[in-house]
Amino acid sequence: MRHIFSPQPPNLPKRWIKIYPGRFSGLMALVHQSQRSKYLRDKKSWTVLKVWLSIFSHDKCWYCEAKSIRATFDVDHFRPKLRITVDGAELDGHTGYYWLAYEWWNLRLSCQRCNRPEDSYGKRNEFPIKDEAQRCSVPTGLLQSEEPRLLDPCCADDCKLLGHAISGEVFPNAEKGTWEYARADFTRKQLGFNAFGTPEFKRSSWARIDLLIRFGGDRPEIVSELRKYLSPEAEYSEFFRAAIGSHRDKPWIEALLAA
Ligand SMILES: [Zn+2]
Repeated sequence: MRHIFSPQPPNLPKRWIKIYPGRFSGLMALVHQSQRSKYLRDKKSWTVLKVWLSIFSHDKCWYCEAKSIRATFDVDHFRPKLRITVDGAELDGHTGYYWLAYEWWNLRLSCQRCNRPEDSYGKRNEFPIKDEAQRCSVPTGLLQSEEPRLLDPCCADDCKLLGHAISGEVFPNAEKGTWEYARADFTRKQLGFNAFGTPEFKRSSWARIDLLIRFGGDRPEIVSELRKYLSPEAEYSEFFRAAIGSHRDKPWIEALLAA
C-alpha cells in the first residue's frame, strides 16, 4: 500500500462538478433505504471519477498496488454506501454511509481482487471500527470519532503499518497485540494480499532483480533498472523497496533508496 496523495483543492473534472450537486441533493431527498438503494444502483456517477482517481496511483490499485491487466478497476467507497458488515455479519440498524456516496474523498480506486468477494477475501461492505459506540449513522455524525480497522491508502501513517517480506508476503509492521497490528493484520487478510498467487508473482520478479544486484553491481544500467522498480509507477513498488532494502549493506543500494 503506497500513500495516495491527492492535492487540495482537488481539481475535480468539470463533468463531475456539473453532475455532483444534482446527484447529492437527489439522494438526500430520499427518506427510505429502498429508495436510496435504487437511486444508487441507477446512478453510479462516481465511475466518472475513475480516470481522475487513477492519476494519483499511476493506474494502480490504491490498496494493493496491482496494475489492472485483465480486469477493469472498481471505484470503491471506503465507507460503504448502503450497508455495513463487521466480521461478515450485517450491522443491524445501520443503512450505510449513504450521504458519502458521491463524496470524492470517500472513493478509492480498487482492483476487483481487493474489492469484490471471492472465497473469504474482498472488502465488500466490511467496515469494522474500534468502538461501535462511536459509529456514525446519520449525516451529522462526526466521522473523526470513528477509528476504522481497515488501513486507508490516503493516510501515510496507515501505509507504514504494512511490511513486505522478500517472500512476497505482506505482514503487519507493528507490535503484536496492539490496535495497529490488528488493523494491518485485518487489512492484509480481508483484501487477500497474500492470496491469489500474489506473493509468488512478486517473489519471481524479485529473484531476477536480486541476481542483478548480487552479480551486476552498481553499473549505471542496473541502477536505472532498479529505479524503475522503485518508482511510483511500478507495480508493487513498496514490496520492491523493501526487497531491494535487504541489500542495504551495499552503500550504492543505500544511496539509491535514499534518493
Ligand atoms: Zn488491489
